[in-house]
Amino acid sequence: MRVGQRQAREVRLGGMKRWVSFFIPGGVLFFAAVLLISLNAFKPTIQAITGIAPYVVYLSAVLIGWRFNRSSLVFAVLILAVTDRALLLWAKEFSLMDTRGQAVFHAAAFLVPLNFLLLSLAKERGIFTVHGMVRMALFAVQPVLIAGLIRHDSLRVLHYLTLEVLPLGPADHLTLAQPAIASFLIAFIVLGVRFTIDQGAKESGFFWALLTVFAAFATARPGYASVLYFCFAGVILLVSLIEASHAMAFRDELTGLPARRALKEDLLKLGRHYALAMVDIDHFKKFNDTYGHDVGDQVLRMVAAKLAGISGGGKSFRYGGEEFTVIFPGRYADHAKHHLEELRREIEHTGFVIRRRLRPRRKPESIKPVTSPLKSVSVTISIGLASCSERNLTPQAVLKAADKALYRAKKQGRNRVCT
Ligand code: GH3
Ligand code: MG
Ligand code: MG
Repeated sequence: MRVGQRQAREVRLGGMKRWVSFFIPGGVLFFAAVLLISLNAFKPTIQAITGIAPYVVYLSAVLIGWRFNRSSLVFAVLILAVTDRALLLWAKEFSLMDTRGQAVFHAAAFLVPLNFLLLSLAKERGIFTVHGMVRMALFAVQPVLIAGLIRHDSLRVLHYLTLEVLPLGPADHLTLAQPAIASFLIAFIVLGVRFTIDQGAKESGFFWALLTVFAAFATARPGYASVLYFCFAGVILLVSLIEASHAMAFRDELTGLPARRALKEDLLKLGRHYALAMVDIDHFKKFNDTYGHDVGDQVLRMVAAKLAGISGGGKSFRYGGEEFTVIFPGRYADHAKHHLEELRREIEHTGFVIRRRLRPRRKPESIKPVTSPLKSVSVTISIGLASCSERNLTPQAVLKAADKALYRAKKQGRNRVCT
């Protein structure tokens, strides 16, 4: 019962954290944009800044993306900039009833989500590389192609872009047409699924930026509101790049746990009252040697997942290799020991299932009875625990003491907690 309750809480906490990381900062910025535009009091201010703000946002985002070598940010912001400026220009140039103006609007609404989707799915391959140039050409060719087609036969282009697959009744001449809505929907669904798998700042950034772009198109008439939305989309992409870079520096990629850099910072924030544990997987090298590095990585992830859910107010970090650190701010060693013992037992009893090679490397002489391809092995950990005291005043001293205790745990036969 107790274990069940704890697991449920772990899962809930994980879910909560996931939602928070999805909404912050992209969702917050999106709703801020909606609020700004819907409040009439801000209208004069917004109108005043929309002359200069787009250039500041697009230019800084492109420069920062270039410096960080994030082609997805650079290309996405260039797409935003071109779309935003093109819509404004065409709105000025043509009457909104003009088929050419409408065709530009619907073409942009159809293409931007698909391009965003491609960008978010594509691997980072640099900007001034062959890959980068090919992508750049792929984006650049679209407006040229669209312009050509519209010049050639704008009515036909408009006809295809406003095809009504579902009979939903007559649409206004400048509301989003069904092809564009479908392309937005596809992009939102894929980005949403991608976020639930990867939980990265890039995916959530693209999702919220695209929703902001959707709001821009939904305002229907290019003007100060759509310009502000496009600017906010650029800001969301920029902030998500910063978030992703922060995560890269402070999170361990393999396990998802906070990394050593984060531990270093957290140690400086601790007061005089805390317990600290060093955790080490037993005979991990043998594990790697027997089953391969990939299985070793899976074991690391499994142990890290258990460590992430440790009870009793502990916070886990990947110290390096197969070693982890858990800190218990404001707790005594006795309290920490109880929860670490629980963790140790849980990992010991979890068992790790290994899929054995189904086919032998060499063709067997005679057919042997098929054995189960699954094999369960036990993974154990050893833990050294220390707390801040007269003898160990600095975090470094506590860490050293925990390391010594870990050494004792190993010497005494492993799979135990030593103080
Ligand atoms: P002990 O019980 O004394 O701790 O023995 P051990 O084999 O676990 O300890 P040792 O320090 O000798 O081996 C640690 C191994 O961890 C060596 C290295 O190959 C492996 N390792 C370190 N980082 C990673 C990683 O990220 N992935 C994988 N698969 N293995 C790793
Ligand atoms: Mg080790
Ligand atoms: Mg080890």
